[in-house]
This record gives sequence, C-alpha cells and structure tokens, in this order.
Amino acid sequence: MYQLIDGKAISRQIKDELREKVEGLRAQGKEICLAVIQVGSDPASSVYVNNKKKACEYTGIRSLAYELPEETTEEELLALIGELNSREDVNGILVQLPLPAHINEERILLAIDPARDVDGFHPVNVGNLSIGRPGYVSCTPAGVIQLLKRSGIEIEGKECVVLGRSNIVGKPMAMLLLRENGTVTVCHSRTRNLKEITRRADILVVAVGKPGFVDADYVKEGAVVIDVGIHRDENNKLCGDVDFDSVAPHTSAITPVPGGVGPMTIAMLMNNCVEGLR
Ligand code: NAP
Repeated sequence: MYQLIDGKAISRQIKDELREKVEGLRAQGKEICLAVIQVGSDPASSVYVNNKKKACEYTGIRSLAYELPEETTEEELLALIGELNSREDVNGILVQLPLPAHINEERILLAIDPARDVDGFHPVNVGNLSIGRPGYVSCTPAGVIQLLKRSGIEIEGKECVVLGRSNIVGKPMAMLLLRENGTVTVCHSRTRNLKEITRRADILVVAVGKPGFVDADYVKEGAVVIDVGIHRDENNKLCGDVDFDSVAPHTSAITPVPGGVGPMTIAMLMNNCVEGLR
C-alpha cells in the first residue's frame, strides 16, 4: 500500500509554525509585510492573489494589495516596484504572472529588489541557488522538498528524475534535489528514451504541463512520485500530470491533485516572507 502525501496537512503545519514565528516577531515590534501586484483581472490570477491574501491573514503577515487596471503601462508598473523597493516596511514584493502582453515580464522581474524577491525568480536568487549561497528559492520546488522531508522520504543518494526544465519548476527543482545530495537527471521534450530514464527514478518529480502524461509505464515499482501539474479535465475536475489511478498502486508514496504540491506553493511563499526578514 502506498503512502498518500498530504500536502494540505503539511502546508497547514508550515503555516502554523510561521504564524507562531510572526507572532513572536510582532512581540518584538517587527512586522512582516508582503506587497502583491496584479495587473488586469485574469480570473485564475485573481484566485491565486486571493489565496495569497488569505494565507497572509492566517499567518499574521500584513499584505498590501495593488490591483492595477489592464492598461497600466510598463513605466507605471516599474515606478510602483521602485517605490516598494525603497520602502523599509515592505519585506516581499510579488508580481502576479502572467502580465498583459504589452508589458515585458523579464524587465519587471529584473526590477524587483533581489532582497525582496520572495518568488525567487530574479537571476541573483537563481544564481545563488545554483552556487549554494543563501537566497530566495522558487516556492513550488521548495514546497516539493518540504513534502519529501516531512513525509520521511530521504533524498540523499537517491536516483531523482525531474520531468520538465522550466525556470520556475524543473530547473530549481533539480538544483534543490542536488543540494539534498540526490543524483539528479532532468528530462525535457527532446529527451530520448524518456520512459527508460523515468523508470530509473527512486524519486520522480513530474512538471511536464500535460494532463495525465505519466502512466504506470513511466514508473519503477516502489518509486516516490511527486505530481506538480495542475489542470482541469473535461468535467472541470482538477487533475495533474500523472495518471494517478494507474500509477499510485506501483509507488511507495505519491502526491494527489488536488491536495499535494498545490497548497505547498503558498505555504513556501509565506515562509520566504518570514525567513527573508531583514
Ligand atoms: P512548462 O513551462 O510548460 O514546462 C514544461 C516542461 O515539460 C518543459 O521543460 C518541456 O520541455 C517539458 N515537456 C513538455 N512536453 C514534454 C514531453 N512530451 N516529453 C518530455 N518533456 C516534455 O511548465 P511549468 O511551468 O514547469 O509547469 C508544469 C506543470 O506544473 C503545469 O501543469 C503547471 O500548471 C504546474 N504548476 C503547478 C504549480 C503549483 O503550485 N502546484 C506551480 C507551477 C506550475 P522543453 O523545455 O523541451 O519544452
């Protein structure tokens, strides 16, 4: 029987720990503050922003919400980021992606002070991760590491395969598993003999962005499978990149969708805000 990794419970545990920490800091007169900027009113982004606000409320982090109209110019957004960068009372700045097409996303992310880049997307933080220096780490892969550790799954010495090489999930995931002394292989759309490689994995992290892509053929008997994907199926039900029903019986542990990696991303965002307090 496999272990169902409960991301909901683990994320709650992390938020409870942070809540205590935030309370302790407040008692010393220190407040933590996260600024969240949304441009336009993309419904999925609004849900994410709202969930971030709720998590801030839960943990006691002050949140500043900037809901800017779709027609906001790049210069106006850069000016707001510049102002927030200089505010002593703002610990974290997050710009909800995607941005409207007329705004250059890269320019915006580069403008955020790396010391306030709680999403961990700035090249300074990406570089720090790759050379083992402290810095902010992208929240979703950081959440996967917490899921593994808090479920008692050892990473050191394990054959780890990451399926996907995006800048926000696959690449930082690989760096983090390496930091934990896993033996890491990264696969992508040009990988040959994909199943042969994924079947080597003791720990398989799937971030391929295709619903139900990984079936039992991709998985070694007894592997740990972490599903980062989030999609809606034809019945509007949430599902992942892994075909859970066919894969789960062959694993020793697996994350469900929903209730696996998803809730961890926001918990790790809160963690970045608190741990980054200067
Ligand atoms: P992405 O940017 O689309 O990257 C997908 C990766 O998969 C790419 O590296 C791509 O390879 C690779 N790939 C695509 N088709 C493949 C194939 N047939 N064989 C092998 N590799 C293939 O996606 P992402 O942003 O990393 O997100 C991945 C999934 O995680 C999505 O479902 C997304 O919604 C979800 N997600 C969830 C959270 C969360 O909080 N739980 C956070 C972020 C993302 P190439 O590089 O060669 O194109």
